[in-house]
Amino acid sequence: MISVEQALDKILSCIDVLGEEQRPILDAMGQVLAEDIYSTIDIPPLDNSAMDGYAVRSEDTRGASRQSPRFLRVIDTVIAGSIPKCGVEPGTAIRIMTGAPIPEGADSVVRFEDTDEAQRKRDSGEIGFLYEVKLGSAIRSAGEDIARGSIVLHKGVVIRPPEVGVLASLGRSRVMVIRRPIVAILATGGELVDINQPLPVGKIYNSNTYSIAALVQRYRGIPKILGVALDNEDSLVAKLHQGLDADMLITSGGVSLGDHDVVKDVLAKEGEIVFWKVRLKPGKPLVLGTIKGLSKTGIARSIPLVGLPGNPVGTMITFELFVCPAILKMLGKKNLAKPTIEAVISEPIKNEDGRRIFARAIVEKRDGQYFARLTGPQGSGILTSMTLANGLVVVPEDKPGVEKGDIVQVIMLDWIEES
Ligand code: AMP
Ligand code: MG
Repeated sequence: MISVEQALDKILSCIDVLGEEQRPILDAMGQVLAEDIYSTIDIPPLDNSAMDGYAVRSEDTRGASRQSPRFLRVIDTVIAGSIPKCGVEPGTAIRIMTGAPIPEGADSVVRFEDTDEAQRKRDSGEIGFLYEVKLGSAIRSAGEDIARGSIVLHKGVVIRPPEVGVLASLGRSRVMVIRRPIVAILATGGELVDINQPLPVGKIYNSNTYSIAALVQRYRGIPKILGVALDNEDSLVAKLHQGLDADMLITSGGVSLGDHDVVKDVLAKEGEIVFWKVRLKPGKPLVLGTIKGLSKTGIARSIPLVGLPGNPVGTMITFELFVCPAILKMLGKKNLAKPTIEAVISEPIKNEDGRRIFARAIVEKRDGQYFARLTGPQGSGILTSMTLANGLVVVPEDKPGVEKGDIVQVIMLDWIEES
């Protein structure tokens, strides 16, 4: 049996970063930029006002005070989106709104609050300034955010809301990004019934297809649901062949030692097994292989196949530990690991068979310290434990367990790492 780290290394070494595609900026959220973005414009395009107020020559306010205001003649108003019709001459001011271009001759803006505007009627033709204004006050300079010709976003960054905003501010509607992987999902098991069907006695609903597809979507893969294969080689091969155009194949179930656990046999025939069984709990029977497939252009290639265990908790945890980093790698992301914190554990956890345990836990922060408590029964079929958990407490394989009050490592499931 190999360790968690060895298994992850082997999976990642079967995975390549995918090719590029052009996407509308909003649809590119969470994808990795595949081009350097240069600006063809200055942002802001012109010197403009940071305040609603008056554009003035600062020297015209010299000596102004509350007791002895300086009065200037108001000769025009300029609003955002318009161009000033005239400039500011000595002894004059132009009423200006936030974002409006600074008129010729003005070197500062005085906000309304620093004038006697509130005390007068708007059309009085003049305005009193209650303070001296510093040269350059409340002016946003052309190009102060982005200078024309400069590089604004570097290839390799992840598109998040600020990047979408910056791209829009440059007038870009589409960008080149690393494309999202298509992940084919196949559940195995004669006991499975699809949702929306009546449930015959002795059968269970197929939940793994949906929890896996939800995880694929969460990490920005594109799920391709292949349905359910029965526990025989012919059924499995037929279904798997429908997924040979995917970037990765995920199966659930059929990887243990049961009479009908045929995933490994099919993998050995259709491709190659890289490893089977990992020293962890839940999820020990995880299998990795490659399977011969065809690209869209008909070129032979091998597709990684991760056979997840069938028990619904083991399915989800092994996905988080091994498939999630693989998807992130295909997307071109650099940080493949989930955030890990240290927490005080509120109860003992025994480790009886030398596997690394990933226990479902609720992590809370109190007085600057994280505390973790288990969600309840930890059986690998108790899927509701995953709905309660926000983290996985790690119990090392080389220890007999952890005691109440010990500091433990917790992998946080609910902090999605973007970078
Ligand atoms: P297996 O590894 O195929 O023996 O499956 C282990 C356990 O997980 C069995 O109790 C299965 O019924 C259950 N299981 C397998 N596949 C699914 C699935 N797609 N949805 C829900 N439970 C499943
Ligand atoms: Mg089965």
